[in-house]
Amino acid sequence: MTTGGPRSALEGVGLLAIGLLLVQIGLVLPDIDQRIPFIGHRSALTHSVLLPLLLAGRWPAIAGLLAGGIAVHLGADLLPRGWFGYALVRVPFLGPLDATLSQLFLAANAVVGLHLFHAASREPATRRMLWAMLAVSAAAYLLVHERWWPLVLAAVALATVVVVWRRR
Ligand SMILES: [Zn+2]
Repeated sequence: MTTGGPRSALEGVGLLAIGLLLVQIGLVLPDIDQRIPFIGHRSALTHSVLLPLLLAGRWPAIAGLLAGGIAVHLGADLLPRGWFGYALVRVPFLGPLDATLSQLFLAANAVVGLHLFHAASREPATRRMLWAMLAVSAAAYLLVHERWWPLVLAAVALATVVVVWRRR
């Protein structure tokens, strides 16, 4: 058992609130490429963990929480209606990657993003709480933006498992 108590509970709630905010920012961050001139949509600059990696050395918790949201966004972008046009990842000066490289790029960045998210806290109870929060955020995101019911149900199931596991 980890040590509980009012102080750690308060810290947990504070971290959860900040974490929730940073994850929501991470969820929408990749698509700001649509508002930046010249880089093109599905830019490799924003559809990657580049920003969290730049922040990770100095602020690992902030970087990790942002990366969790970005990873969910990239995961959702891995399931387009087809691998053409805006589904492809655009690299500055190189142009769009092909379908296979786009999928590899998004998947690799999502995996690194989830690693950074896991490293956002070293405390096991906090980690479980953050993972449950990410799963619920992912479910809400998919519900609003993509309507992938099977994935939403899977995310909710994962969150439930994490919560039950925490109480074991
Ligand atoms: Zn996107």
